[in-house]
Amino acid sequence: EVYEAIERWEPKVKGFITLLDRDVVIKRAKEVERELREGRKLPLAGLVVAVKDNISTSFAPTTAGSRILSGYVPPFNATVVERLLEAGAIIIGKTNMDEFAMGSTTELSGFWPTRNPWDLDRVPGGSSGGSAAALAYGGADLALGSDTGGSVRLPAAYTGTVGLKPTYGLVSRYGLIPYANSLEQISPMARSVRDVALLLEVIAGHDPRDATSLTIDRISLSSTPSPNPKDFRICVPHEMIDGSDAPVRGTIIKLLDRLQSEGVEVNYDVSLPSAADALPIYYTIALAEAASNLARYDGKLYPFAELRPNYTETVTATRARGFGREVKRRIVLGVMALSEGYRDEFYVAAAKGRRLLRDEVLRLTRNCVVAGSVSPTLPPRIGERITDPLKLYALDVYTVIANLAGVPSLAMPAGFYSDLPVGVQFMGGPLEEAKLVALGELVESVT
Ligand code: GLN
Repeated sequence: EVYEAIERWEPKVKGFITLLDRDVVIKRAKEVERELREGRKLPLAGLVVAVKDNISTSFAPTTAGSRILSGYVPPFNATVVERLLEAGAIIIGKTNMDEFAMGSTTELSGFWPTRNPWDLDRVPGGSSGGSAAALAYGGADLALGSDTGGSVRLPAAYTGTVGLKPTYGLVSRYGLIPYANSLEQISPMARSVRDVALLLEVIAGHDPRDATSLTIDRISLSSTPSPNPKDFRICVPHEMIDGSDAPVRGTIIKLLDRLQSEGVEVNYDVSLPSAADALPIYYTIALAEAASNLARYDGKLYPFAELRPNYTETVTATRARGFGREVKRRIVLGVMALSEGYRDEFYVAAAKGRRLLRDEVLRLTRNCVVAGSVSPTLPPRIGERITDPLKLYALDVYTVIANLAGVPSLAMPAGFYSDLPVGVQFMGGPLEEAKLVALGELVESVT
């Protein structure tokens, strides 16, 4: 089953940074069987889960894809990991990612790039590319990623899988190695909408250890046996699809036409004007938060260190060797955006822009589910996007909107274009996960 797929694909795809010892995994599976026999109710009983390597596990190294965290085994589990274990899940390993989740292709991992199982010359998307690739080739039933600006949805789109970024605060961030706290959520990934919903039900809910956690105990995303198409209203702001390449746009429009013929109301006559500013707003805020989060890696707190005669030299040498180029670039830019003299022009301006965008999104999602592209392109070839950072950042143009607004967003397969998967994005109002799941199941029934 899962191990057959791993033996066949993993050497080529390289989706995992750490695979747990097979004996340990088998022992855990037996333990779950015993708990089931004892009559315990385990919603994820026996399901194999891959966990992104920026989510803390006390039983496996947690590197966030960075050399600066090599050798680090956290002394605790993230809240979501505790919840997986309580629900009977079998964790199989930790997946590859762009360093500190900064990237969109998994090529910026501090270790190695992950490849797309659909076409090994292409990227699986990022930064949760390892989780998505493992799902796509059958190396796990379910996976966890993190989504700061699209890191779960872009890989889902590029690998033909499903990812849902929840409403901000619905899933605990305790134990997530932070990149940009005000934007990110640990997010479920799977091969079907139903499985994503199942995983989200397990990980969602209040956690006193995360100060931004919403005071909601649990959510219910039960299946609607046969969703009525007439219950859904979709609107497609032109800003969320026009700039996409023809294969992407064409595949999504075809899907929307299909939904329309089933009775779903689809409205193209809407606009999200601030979407044009979403990328610069996102990158200003994300980098500012990143710069302050990454200040903690000084060679004292974690095992990786370049020891020198004094503290300053130790910090400099550790960071020079431990961080990759893109991470350093972002620290420099983030520090600048927060500096005296530049603050108002960059960070404060971005915060204001974020508010305007959020208001626009909230206004739209009050009346309809917003649909659009996940990525402007098909999965890029390895090497194609990382030569120029701006070309890399441009891949996130449609996904960062939901993070800036704090609303839920589902990415799922819209169809294929010459053997490559194309994703579609559905964005709802705050806490409208159930609506997105119901629509997602309807979409699955027509694709
Ligand atoms: N690609 C975006 C970035 O690099 C988003 C990454 C993410 O969601 N973690 O910031």
